[in-house]
Amino acid sequence: MKYIGAHVSAAGGVAKAPARARAIGAKAFALFTKNQRQWQAKDLSAAEIAAFKDSLEICDFKPEQVLPHDSYLINLAHPEPEKREKSLTAFIDECRRCELLGLTKLNFHPGSTLQKITEEQGLELISKALNIALKETESVTLVIENTAGQGSNLGYRFEHLRAIIDQIDDVSRIGVCLDTCHTFAAGYDLRTAEKYTETMLEFERVVGFSFLCGAHLNDAKSTFASRVDRHHSIGKGNLGLEPFRFIMQDNRFDNIPLILETIDDSIWAEEIALLYSLTDTENYAN
Ligand SMILES: [Zn+2]
Ligand SMILES: [Zn+2]
Repeated sequence: MKYIGAHVSAAGGVAKAPARARAIGAKAFALFTKNQRQWQAKDLSAAEIAAFKDSLEICDFKPEQVLPHDSYLINLAHPEPEKREKSLTAFIDECRRCELLGLTKLNFHPGSTLQKITEEQGLELISKALNIALKETESVTLVIENTAGQGSNLGYRFEHLRAIIDQIDDVSRIGVCLDTCHTFAAGYDLRTAEKYTETMLEFERVVGFSFLCGAHLNDAKSTFASRVDRHHSIGKGNLGLEPFRFIMQDNRFDNIPLILETIDDSIWAEEIALLYSLTDTENYAN
């Protein structure tokens, strides 16, 4: 079963998100559990939590079909200790919000060196932060997303994800999210069956599909290996439709949230329907 959806708005409160996902035919969704551009957030009230859980059930989503995303402000690799501490505090708060909402995963970008420390140092700082977050929380799985490697962002090599995982004390609550646009922009091709197979073999060899907890389905305005992070609507960018057909036909992507972060939310329903049509083996054009 493929759980395809989109990163929907939580404007007006998290309890509004499930119905927005339902309305576009989604079987999965992502959301921010707080304003992603602000450090501070009001605590979730008991009423908000109950309303979210109700609406999740009414809209027929299980917690596993939801992939919350953390704030863009958080940088667990920040070279300055005070700012790194601030990020970790905010990250742990986001973990707890997910747990309060009954959600099982939190998706995040690894962090950025800001060109002040080496990549190795940055990766070590991220692992240290994750080890603390794991100790401070109960149940949420921390889902590291691969990045395009724009600026000084870490996570653009599968080896970065592996280096983070290798320095985690207990990996049972660690996962990975693959973003198709980021993968391609980072220099892993997905455009032909041969390249797709090669890239996924490399992911299996370096990281392992046992860690895969979700994926972001984005076409790319960015060009191959450009290390630029610019999403496009499915089939309209430099990836084209084929990579999405390969994913839809790949059972290693079953039963995990597959989330659109594409640029035109007015066509998300069409994109979801298109992706579901590609899961049909009779439509497989090989
Ligand atoms: Zn993404
Ligand atoms: Zn992106």
